[in-house]
Amino acid sequence: MLADAPTSGVEELVRIDARAANKVDAIRQVGQLLAAAGCVSPDYEDSMVARENVANTFLGAGVAIPHGLGEDKGKVRRDGIAILQLRDGVEWNPGQRAHIVVGIAANSDNHISILRRLTRLIQDEARLEDLRTTGDPEDFRRALWADEAPATTAAQPARDYSQTVSWTLDYPTGLHARPASAWVEAARSSGVRLRVRHGGESADPSSLIALLQMGLRCGDPVTFSAEGDKARPALEAFVARVRSLSGREKADAERAAQKASAPVQGWKPQGEARMIAGVAASPGLAIGTVHVLAAHDLSVPDQPCDLVSGGSALNTALTRTRAQMKALIDDTTRRLGAGDAAIFRAQAELLDDTDLITLTCQIMVEGHGVAWAWHEAVSRIAGQLSALGNPVLAARAADLHDVGRRVLAELDPSLAAGTMADLPEAPCILVAADLSPSETATLDTARVAGIATALGGPTSHSAILARTLGLPSVVAGGVDLLGVASGTLAIVDGDGGRVWLDPGEADLASARGWIDKLAAERASQEAERGQPAITLDGASIEVAANVNRPDQVAFALAQGGEGVGLMRTEFLFLESGDTPSEDEQAAIYLAMAEALDGRSLIVRALDIGGDKQVPHLDLPVEENPFLGVRGARLLLRRPDLLDPQLRALYRAAQQGGALSIMFPMITSLEELVELRARCEAIRAELDAPHVPIGIMIEVPAAAVQAHVLAEHADFFSIGTNDLTQYVLAMDRQNPELAAQAQSLHPAVLRMIAMTIEGAKAHGRWVGVCGGIAGDPFGAALLAGLGVRELSMTPRDIPAVKARIRQSRIEDLQALAREALAARDVAAVRALDKGGIGQDRPGASEQGAGAPGKAV
Ligand code: PEP
Ligand code: MG
Repeated sequence: MLADAPTSGVEELVRIDARAANKVDAIRQVGQLLAAAGCVSPDYEDSMVARENVANTFLGAGVAIPHGLGEDKGKVRRDGIAILQLRDGVEWNPGQRAHIVVGIAANSDNHISILRRLTRLIQDEARLEDLRTTGDPEDFRRALWADEAPATTAAQPARDYSQTVSWTLDYPTGLHARPASAWVEAARSSGVRLRVRHGGESADPSSLIALLQMGLRCGDPVTFSAEGDKARPALEAFVARVRSLSGREKADAERAAQKASAPVQGWKPQGEARMIAGVAASPGLAIGTVHVLAAHDLSVPDQPCDLVSGGSALNTALTRTRAQMKALIDDTTRRLGAGDAAIFRAQAELLDDTDLITLTCQIMVEGHGVAWAWHEAVSRIAGQLSALGNPVLAARAADLHDVGRRVLAELDPSLAAGTMADLPEAPCILVAADLSPSETATLDTARVAGIATALGGPTSHSAILARTLGLPSVVAGGVDLLGVASGTLAIVDGDGGRVWLDPGEADLASARGWIDKLAAERASQEAERGQPAITLDGASIEVAANVNRPDQVAFALAQGGEGVGLMRTEFLFLESGDTPSEDEQAAIYLAMAEALDGRSLIVRALDIGGDKQVPHLDLPVEENPFLGVRGARLLLRRPDLLDPQLRALYRAAQQGGALSIMFPMITSLEELVELRARCEAIRAELDAPHVPIGIMIEVPAAAVQAHVLAEHADFFSIGTNDLTQYVLAMDRQNPELAAQAQSLHPAVLRMIAMTIEGAKAHGRWVGVCGGIAGDPFGAALLAGLGVRELSMTPRDIPAVKARIRQSRIEDLQALAREALAARDVAAVRALDKGGIGQDRPGASEQGAGAPGKAV
């Protein structure tokens, strides 16, 4: 192995204070050294020169690494490296001088370890300077052959250092990524050399991959050892850190077990299928084979580049991804807690893994492009991890693919999307760490039957989109989900929040029966969906759809929608990966109005921010995006976004589009007044017709001041998803809080009542376009409170209409009074005395959250 001391004498392979006339001369000299040492055939130097013409081997910091062409591997007799120290240097490329020329002969992967050292070395200015001037070949031996334990991705041979501590691993789920990355952190800051050994296998605990490859399970005896100055106290501190993680690991395992054994409403299997418990996000049952969304499905073009630009592109991509991961860790910590953020912490750790980076450099040195090399390195290492047949390591492979994908997207933005390309033909269960709203929005529903994600929350926009698409979905299934192999048969229960794996025939049959039963129930509601929602005593409620694209209108109308009560225009920005131009927007708004053929269309101005981040807008990362510059606040700061949108809307109105404009996240009167002024200026400029201008009531301040706002707004539409999160101070994406973040909370209902009262004072109408509108009981309650229009996911329309049509408005008003007086959500829910849709699967935009109905 090259990593071991050379079999020939070091002097033979290192030429101190050499002189070279030029680059080719230098390459030939190292070639001759290698040939003299018996490593290569004498004509290998020709191959090295030829290689240099194909790809630049200048590594940076005055180090070049010439080597032969791939097809000449046969000329390598044994692996070896030879070094030329050129104190005066030689010009390698214009403006680049090489002072240390490392000739490599290898027909195996052995030179990876040399490359690893070289990559480290070129970051160590002082050491390099010493090597440029040293008179002692031994210094090179120490730097390149012997100054560290060989670190390959395979576990190291067992040998303890002088100081040892024994321990039995007591983490119930073994050494998975989260605790392993804590070990890495502790090892790296220990200041001594550490080793972990289990039986005959050992690893350097400062390498995450090496640790994970040991595949340690609960109950495995391990020996930690250390050497170096202050080895004993450092080892003890390290072990203390290792032990300190036990409590948390045990508590997590217990919580997972409790979650798994919580009673479930709806379908239950009879057999012994393996189950992963998550949080229900979109109702219904789906059966299919698992497709794990991972970057290895990508086809990455190989565009060779020179090592210097490749290396610097990689460096930039890694730096950017680190920053991205940091934001993600912060955000996840905030949303889900530090425990869940640890998944990303572990992923971020992989970005610093020397094995991975070195392998990438090595593949680049072989003449491949940087994106291809990175992707290949990720695939190889992930492949090694998966091949060990350990689900914990398989999940790490998924992590590696995941983080690998982020780096790839930085290296080549065209690779950011497209991983859905390889979805199997037959409807599958899509499994992913998380899905962005745009990924969910662009899912091919012919190929995806259900969704299960390790992260995410039931009221996230991805979950809303899943419901819009009618895809049963479970979120927050945890890291175990990522370890499920593609091809595994699974049932996603979007009501109970469970994913069942490898179900037996009897369970499959009963799940199919359940799916049929739901379909029949739905069919009976759908039979009357075309009828208006008029109560038995003649009160009329307008039922509209939340729809974002013209091609979705037909379905919404077919479901019984009487118009569009909410068009979330931010999805035009999210889905396209680019900012749509004014012309493009105008065409879409007009197409939307035309598809509605005179029915009402409420277009909401951009609501960017919160969980709807648009990467191509490069908005600053915020500590608390839901409390930050989002919705109207952003629009007022970004006329470059607001003005083209308003112009596009007025142009569509000019061409006959019957539309209204609605502004999101209004907090105070000044915002509304300013936005109205902007509308009027643009309208006048275009000489366009007046259109109604409404606002969303999503912030408690707006609900409380509805009587003030109503003077300046033509209508209100209550966004109960946000209103709930702001009234209750519960992040709508946090699965921990999903069961409590209920729009039926009396505090939220009182805000709604205040809004209606304020609107009445100025004769304005009030609609609701948040999730509660799509729940039959919620809808009935809202009608009783005085809401005139309900806008919802198209699929929710038939059940809501059915419920309104069988009610009397007087009864609903009495119901509303009781609900306002109720003490808590349970008391409100207890008022639901049933009706059509009572036992339906519980679809609503706000998500099923807890088992059962959650509105
Ligand atoms: C809401 O907040 O209820 C709403 C309809 O807006 P969004 O879900 O898009 O934030
Ligand atoms: Mg909102």
